[in-house]
Amino acid sequence: MIVPDTKENLNQCICTKCPTYVQCMKDKSEGLFCARGKSACKIEEEECICMDCPVDTEYKLTARLDLMEKKILKLNQFYCINGPAGSKK
Ligand code: SF4
Ligand code: SF4
Repeated sequence: MIVPDTKENLNQCICTKCPTYVQCMKDKSEGLFCARGKSACKIEEEECICMDCPVDTEYKLTARLDLMEKKILKLNQFYCINGPAGSKK
């Protein structure tokens, strides 16, 4: 599902708590990558915690997937690197 780039969604975004979220992203006030797409920063892939985010729940980014699909998606999530939800790279 496409996630709208709204203030409400940004406020719910938990990217700042993510191990992958680096100082550069903070400096640029980046977030809501599932809507806005890739970060402009250089990123070391650590972990993606999007699945625990209320925005993920609201827009059913992973809710309807089975365990296998979630495993695959976990590899592909990283919206800050791969681009927004609902799009191909
Ligand atoms: S799903 Fe990920 S990128 Fe989207 S708002 Fe939540 S933590 Fe941020
Ligand atoms: S999109 Fe995923 S990996 Fe990137 S900062 Fe947000 S939670 Fe972390």
